Amino acid sequence: MIPAAFDYERATSVEEAVALLARGGDDAKLLAGGHSLLPLMRLRLARPTLLIDIGRLDDLRFIRGDEESVEIGALTTHHDLADSHELAEACPLLVQTASQIGDPQVRHRGTIGGSVAHGDPASDMPAALLALDADLVLEGPDGSRTVAAAAFFDGPLMTALGADEILAVIRVPRRARRTAYLKFQRRAQDWAIVGVAAAVRIEDGRIEEAEIGLTNMGPTPLRAAAVEAALVGASDAAAVSAAAHEVGAIGTPPGDENATPGFRLHIAEVMIRRAVGAAMA
Ligand code: FAD
Repeated sequence: MIPAAFDYERATSVEEAVALLARGGDDAKLLAGGHSLLPLMRLRLARPTLLIDIGRLDDLRFIRGDEESVEIGALTTHHDLADSHELAEACPLLVQTASQIGDPQVRHRGTIGGSVAHGDPASDMPAALLALDADLVLEGPDGSRTVAAAAFFDGPLMTALGADEILAVIRVPRRARRTAYLKFQRRAQDWAIVGVAAAVRIEDGRIEEAEIGLTNMGPTPLRAAAVEAALVGASDAAAVSAAAHEVGAIGTPPGDENATPGFRLHIAEVMIRRAVGAAMA
């Protein structure tokens, strides 16, 4: 289908994008890689009257770090994340996650900022950012504010982002973690039916700390807090398996044409076991 008519502006700076958002009000939308927004517009599920193209804001395309954290510009593509040697060293979970998003075309166009701002619980990157305790830096008419990833996702396609704000930077604390992102899908390159982002700190062969993010297990990406607590002290497959069973504490996941709630819970348990096992290996 052809999208409804809209006006188009290309922002040349973050400030201009924010000003254009203020001018367009609730009917304005930012356009980054377009790989989530344009399909919605073609189905007429989204009908913005003003599209503000931020795709050429190169100031928001970077990966840089210091001793405490790694900062990623919102317009960094999934491909650039997957390809980054700096990130592979500082925060391998993001590399592992980005490399499993869609196909090469999607990864070359889609951006980390678009993935996060879109707020789709089936997107892979949000669960990884939750597991990493990332912060999101938003720019608006009153300046910038920082929102923890844990407080950002409100519901399906709903986030803490104001209508006049732009997500500028994703900040991830540096931590000594072994990590893995695994997704269960029907076909290669599909969206996740269930995804698991696992990060563990291991000392003397046992898990001292664990963070587990879940994709597509609720209306927002989730942390599996009961699993994380049960993983502490685990040193073998049996203990990891017992901890994975605690995923039931998240409540009833959604059912759809791909998976009933019960099947989804079962898959999550299996994928947690495998992801933690892969991280520990
Ligand atoms: P856009 O589509 O440009 O924007 C999405 C939304 O975010 C819009 O509402 C826009 O206004 C808003 N937005 C964008 N950038 C900002 C910003 N900086 N600040 C504030 N708001 C902003 N994703 C996965 O996670 N896993 C997959 O397996 C996967 N498979 C895919 C397969 C296909 C065929 C396609 C088309 C997409 C797939 N995606 C998948 C989604 C893809 O990763 C998207 O590109 C991404 O989710 C959105 O990024 P974008 O830059 O394209 O955002």
